[in-house]
Amino acid sequence: MKRDITEAEGKTFDLIIVGGGIIGANVARDASMRGLKTLILEKDDFATGTTSRSTRLIHGGFRYLQHFEFGLVREDMREREILLKIAPHLVHPLPFLIPLTKPTDRFIMSAGTLLYDILSYDKSVPGRKHYSKKTTMKMEPNMKLEGLRGADQYFDCQIWFTERLCLENIVSAVENKAVALNHAKVTGILKEGNTVNGVKVQDMLTGKEYEIKSRMVVNAAGHWMDAVCGMMYGQPKRMVRRTKGVHLLTPRLSNNALVLYAKSDGRLWFVIPAGKYSLVGTTDTDYKGDLEAVYSDKQDVDYLMKEVQRVFPNLDTSDIYYTFAGLRSLPDSGDEKPSNVSRAHKTIDHEKLDGVKGFISVLGGKITGARGISEEITDLVCKKMDIKVKCKTATTPLPGAPMVTREELSKYTADTKIDFETVSYLASLYGSRYTKVLDYAQRGARGIQPLCQHSKDITAEIWYAVGDESTYTVSDFMMRRSGLGLAECQGLDAVEIVGREMGKLFNWSPEEQQRQVNEYRNTASLAQKYKE
Ligand SMILES: Cc1cc2nc3c(=O)[nH]c(=O)nc-3n(C[C@H](O)[C@H](O)[C@H](O)COP(=O)(O)OP(=O)(O)OC[C@H]3O[C@@H](n4cnc5c(N)ncnc54)[C@H](O)[C@@H]3O)c2cc1C
Repeated sequence: MKRDITEAEGKTFDLIIVGGGIIGANVARDASMRGLKTLILEKDDFATGTTSRSTRLIHGGFRYLQHFEFGLVREDMREREILLKIAPHLVHPLPFLIPLTKPTDRFIMSAGTLLYDILSYDKSVPGRKHYSKKTTMKMEPNMKLEGLRGADQYFDCQIWFTERLCLENIVSAVENKAVALNHAKVTGILKEGNTVNGVKVQDMLTGKEYEIKSRMVVNAAGHWMDAVCGMMYGQPKRMVRRTKGVHLLTPRLSNNALVLYAKSDGRLWFVIPAGKYSLVGTTDTDYKGDLEAVYSDKQDVDYLMKEVQRVFPNLDTSDIYYTFAGLRSLPDSGDEKPSNVSRAHKTIDHEKLDGVKGFISVLGGKITGARGISEEITDLVCKKMDIKVKCKTATTPLPGAPMVTREELSKYTADTKIDFETVSYLASLYGSRYTKVLDYAQRGARGIQPLCQHSKDITAEIWYAVGDESTYTVSDFMMRRSGLGLAECQGLDAVEIVGREMGKLFNWSPEEQQRQVNEYRNTASLAQKYKE
C-alpha cells in the first residue's frame, strides 16, 4: 500500500471519505468492495483519533443494559461474532468476572448476564457462569474486595491492536482499488449550489493544496465532525457533545477482566488483562479542551486510583506506566449526565436535514459496531447513486486473516531458525501477513534485531511499515503500526533507533530525524502529564 496523492489529483471519485478512524476505514472498505471509486483522506494517520484511545474491547456493552439499550447491545453482539470470523487474528474471547458484594447483587447481576446471554443467543463464546466466594478468591487471589460473596462470569472479546484493525480495513480498501491518503487534511468542502461535489485537501507532508471532485462526501471525522460540517455550511454547527474517557496502564493485576462499580458515583469501570499489563478505565466527563491534545489530568487519575486501590490496595500511583485519554462523540442533547447519553450512532443525511445534497455525516458508534454502521452508510450512498450492489464486508475476511496456527508457526520457526516467540508475536500483530514482515527481514542482518527490551518488535517491521504500510513519521510507526507505543516504556527506549532506521529509508537530514523523534517524545509526554 503506497501513498500517492497524484492518484487522486484531477480525478473525480464516486465517494470521498473524510477521516481515517475505524468508521471511515470501514466505509472505504465497503464502498470499494461494491465497486465505488473511493478516496479516503486522513489528516494525521489512520486511527490517530478515538480509535486508538478505546478500552480495546469488542463487546455488546454490559453497561448499556442498565440504560435499556437492548437494540444496541444485540447489534454489537452480532458484530462481535462477525469480527471473530473476519478478524480472528486480532479479536479474541475474554472472560469477564463481576464480583458480587451486596446481597441484592446475585439477583441483579444474574438477571444482567442472563439478558446478555439471550441477546447473544447465536454466540460462539461461552455462556454465563456463577462462582462461589471460595472459587472467586482462587481465580483472583490478588483481588481484595470488601464483602465479596462470589462472582458472575460472562464472555466478551478483546482487540489489543485496534490500530491494526483500522489499518487492515484500509489495506483491504486499497486492494479493492480505493485510494487511501494519510497526512491529508480536508480544509474545505466544494459545493455547486446546494450540492456537495468534492473537497479541498492539504498534503500535510508537503504543504501543497489540491481540489478533488466526487459525487458524494461522507464526513467520518469523529469528534471533529462539527468542524467538517462547518466547512460545508460556511459557519460552525454544533451537533457533537464530547466526553473524555481515560485509561491507566499498570502491571498485571488480575487473571480475568473485572467489571467493577465505582464507590464514588456507581459508574461501571474495568480492569482488563493484556499480557503482562492491566488496562484500568475509564472515566466519562464532559470535555471542552483542545481536540488535538487530549490527556488524563490529575483528577482523572485520582478518581481511577481511588477505585483501583479499593480492590488492589498494593497498587501505587507510581506503578502506573502511562495513561491515555480519548473523546466520545455523543449527540449534543443538552445537560444530561454524560454516562446517561445514548451510545447509539447517528447517520445524518444533510439532504434530509437541510437540503444539502451529496453529504452524509456519522456521529458516534463503537469500534465493535463500525462495520455494521459502515454498511448502513454505504447502503445510503448506493441508494442515492442508484447502485444495487450488496455489502460483502461481513463475510469477507480482513487481509491478515485467518489466524495462524501454532503448528504453522512451529514449522516456520524450524524452517527459518527465527525464534518462536518473535514469530508468534508478529502473527499476533500482522496475522497471516507476518511472513511479509519476515520477508523484509531477509534484506539485512539487522532485520530480526529486537527494537526494545519491553516489546518483541523487530527492525524488519520498520522496513515493512515504510515499504508497504504507508508509514511516514516516527509516531506512525511507534503508535499505529508496531506494538512499541503500547509497551510499558511507550517505546521511548527504542525511539532513537526507529528514528535512525526511518531516517535512512527516507533520507532525512539529521535535523529532520531529531524533529521526528522529538515529536514522538512530545506526544508520549501527554501520557505522563497527570504528574504535573
Ligand atoms: C474512553 C473510550 C473507550 C472506548 N472503548 C471502546 C471499546 O472498548 N470498544 C468499542 O467498541 N468502542 C469503544 N469506544 C468507542 C470508539 O473508540 C469510538 O467510537 C470509535 O473509535 C470512533 O471512531 P471514528 O472513526 O468515528 O472516530 P476517530 O477514530 O476519532 O476518527 C476520526 C478521524 O477523522 C480524522 N479527521 C478529522 N478531521 C479531519 C479532516 N479535516 N481531514 C481529514 N481527516 C480528519 C481524525 O484525525 C481521526 O483520525 C471507546 C471510546 C472512548 C472515548
